[in-house]
Amino acid sequence: MTEITTPIRAGGASTGWLGRLEGKLSWILLGLAGLALPLLDDSYMGTIATRAYIYWVLSAGLNLVVGYAGQIAIGWVSMLTLGAYTTAALAAGRVGPEWPVYLALLAGGGVGAVFGVVVGLPALRLRTFYFAMTTLGFATIATQVALAWKDVTGGGVGTPGPVFPWPFDPGWGFYYFCFLLAAVATWITANIGSSRYGRALVAIRDAEVAAEASGIAKPRLLVLIFLLAGALGGIAGGLFASLQSYITPDAFTFEMSVLFFIGILIGGRGSILGPALGTLILTVLPEIAAPLVQWSTFLYAALLLLIVLVIPGGIADLLDYRNRRPLEQHREIVPRPDLLPRVLGDQNARTLIALKGIRLHFGGVKAIDGLDLEIHGGEVHGLIGPNGSGKTTTLNVVSGYYRPREGSLRVDGSDLPFERPHVRAQWRIARTFQTPRVVGAASVLENVMIGGTVHGHGTFAESMLSLPRHRLDERVLREAAMLALATVGLESLASVRADRLQHSELRFVEIARALVLRPACLMLDEPAAGLSAEEIRRLGGLIKAISRAGTAVLLVEHHADLIFDICDRVTVLNLGKVLAAGTPEEIRSHREVVSAYLGA
Ligand code: ADP
Ligand code: MG
Repeated sequence: MTEITTPIRAGGASTGWLGRLEGKLSWILLGLAGLALPLLDDSYMGTIATRAYIYWVLSAGLNLVVGYAGQIAIGWVSMLTLGAYTTAALAAGRVGPEWPVYLALLAGGGVGAVFGVVVGLPALRLRTFYFAMTTLGFATIATQVALAWKDVTGGGVGTPGPVFPWPFDPGWGFYYFCFLLAAVATWITANIGSSRYGRALVAIRDAEVAAEASGIAKPRLLVLIFLLAGALGGIAGGLFASLQSYITPDAFTFEMSVLFFIGILIGGRGSILGPALGTLILTVLPEIAAPLVQWSTFLYAALLLLIVLVIPGGIADLLDYRNRRPLEQHREIVPRPDLLPRVLGDQNARTLIALKGIRLHFGGVKAIDGLDLEIHGGEVHGLIGPNGSGKTTTLNVVSGYYRPREGSLRVDGSDLPFERPHVRAQWRIARTFQTPRVVGAASVLENVMIGGTVHGHGTFAESMLSLPRHRLDERVLREAAMLALATVGLESLASVRADRLQHSELRFVEIARALVLRPACLMLDEPAAGLSAEEIRRLGGLIKAISRAGTAVLLVEHHADLIFDICDRVTVLNLGKVLAAGTPEEIRSHREVVSAYLGA
């Protein structure tokens, strides 16, 4: 076969300068409109637009929490409260000497960052609904404290908002200041959104186990996101205090919190442009139709219902016309195993994974009952047995989802800690799932890139500012993912949303995602389920080639033909115990196996 020498590119219009311009066009138009608005010389409109920018500074950060990470932080108005009072109190000299206003604004951001993490931390333990309640509770506490702590906040009487000196003095100067900060907030959150951190957030939201198996540590990532969202919320608060010119606790209403939240939902989860437009619309809408102001909550609710029922993907989905182009009906998956050496690189060291005396019970069920298993690099090891015999559980022990009661798990002689699924990727252990776990709302290419998350070097801050190391990471990862997609035969679907794919294609997407890790060990859980006979044959060729490139493959499968065609060793499980182990020939003629499992 011929070697591909030209780089493999994603299909569709997303590449090339025209495609890039197309992607940025909406931002350019929005930016121009914002810059030109003062030409109208309408100060009322200027104030509304300024408010929209301020709300967006907060929502841009909240968007990473709600839209990307899927955390229901419904009371984020508390960050606005904290930032507003911090900035106002420091600038007015209510705590010590008067602070320069810009410094006071930064302090507002700092306080927001700290409390963003404090409020966010429960998300690591609590499930969605309970977390939503904690954020609401905190918002109430913030308002109550503002009411009670009269020395600093002025209590119910309130305190004057800070006034920014030239060049950002009240009026159009302040307008441009807020516009600038909104643009910066957009830029840094968009950078995060399109980085490995952003993809990891979406993976946590929609496919948490797959995210962990790809080496994504949820706690660390969420803390960083809450820090950023808190800081942006605090800065928005400082700006808000200045816009209001006088702040009292009742300025920070529940409706406002709902506005931020709903603006993101109607914008579309996992998008930056959609929520920006959503926030803009929700801020401006009640103002244009002045009689509607007292109806604003009703209006938000109605809009939300409409969006949820008619376009669940929100504004972002409406704008995503590319994914409405029909896909070719009769698609064929034609893997290119000849590309594997380029995907996997040198695998000279042959890994040996050894399970010894593993015992794991679920209540009274002995799911695994004293299992010994060795998986060698360069070989395909078949794991077969009737339903419920413990095959998936075995994979889950190696992947770190379960802690067995007894036994040891070693990789090349060193102990692999039980549990801690996200460290598996560092040991270059990859897997696929019995039911494919992919992020339906992300493109196929992004899904595959998730598999290479641990290969990135750029820090969160570097991604935020799109510094060279981040850009290098992205380029390298994108190329590796395209190569992996070409290897499994799906490169023509790279830019397509994953939820538009057929089931059989998702199985190959999962394999591509695993390959991007350059795995020393690859575990496949019933990869042939739901595939046609021809697809199974091609899959077999691909799996065998992966093992020949040096990877240790553990294959759980029901298709006996596939097992006996490609495996070097086979272990048969029954009721969590090894019933037989040996070469395919030995297993095929094993009396008990034939009678208990394979059939006559
Ligand atoms: P296989 O993949 O071989 O079909 P599994 O490993 O999924 O089987 O299951 C082995 C046994 O453990 C079955 O009896 C199953 O019902 C039980 N089991 C698996 N996972 C759990 C769980 N999370 N909780 C309770 N029982 C489980
Ligand atoms: Mg199973």
